[in-house]
Amino acid sequence: MIVAERKPLSQIAEIMAPYKRICVLGCGSCVTVCLAGGQKEALETATALSIQRQNTGGTLETEAFTIERQCEYEYVDEVAERLKGYDAVLSLACGVGVQTIASRLPEIIVLPGLNTHFMGYPLEQGVWIENCLGCGDCVLHLTQGICPITRCSKSILNGPCGGSQDGKCEISKDLDCAWHLIHERLQNLNMVSTLQEIQPPKNWATSHHGGPRTIVREDVRIDNGE
Ligand code: SF4
Ligand code: SF4
Repeated sequence: MIVAERKPLSQIAEIMAPYKRICVLGCGSCVTVCLAGGQKEALETATALSIQRQNTGGTLETEAFTIERQCEYEYVDEVAERLKGYDAVLSLACGVGVQTIASRLPEIIVLPGLNTHFMGYPLEQGVWIENCLGCGDCVLHLTQGICPITRCSKSILNGPCGGSQDGKCEISKDLDCAWHLIHERLQNLNMVSTLQEIQPPKNWATSHHGGPRTIVREDVRIDNGE
């Protein structure tokens, strides 16, 4: 999932300061699961912003509701007319959701209420770990499901680097050495010999560089003549 956190309330209040009637729009997908931007957080944020505005001698009219996903036009279209009725929309989606709304509804003001961090999963309640950088050329088949690009501090493909101690990365004692984990996993699977094969330099052309990447799937495209 995409993991995000709400911006500090003081920053959101500053961003929303010019507006008197706002919508706090939650997103029902990743940010609901990571407890940053679902219906509960939308209601809390709307209430907190109203109180903050009152405390500074102003008034703020708020409404909070949540749509299934902010990152798809079809869900944005369902609430398009409603969103046009506010001075501004505070989106509690990830940066993708904010940009989807801005792209689909260029006439409205949409502002971010979250800081989007990474793709990852929860290790336990309240703890998330990043585990995919979206490099576009996945190597998890070589490492049996542990990503060296994301989880090794140096993103090396032929590890370990020689600096790890007691299974921890030389960059920080709080970080597991990804290559230590990979070695352990391959050992458990009786596959450690696969590490003897030296991997060639990675093709970074598929990774993020020089602007946004796109994927075009002709097999699922609908030719609408546009
Ligand atoms: S190798 Fe690339 S695509 Fe695969 S998990 Fe790592 S960053 Fe993500
Ligand atoms: S100690 Fe391990 S995780 Fe850290 S940079 Fe070296 S190989 Fe990567």
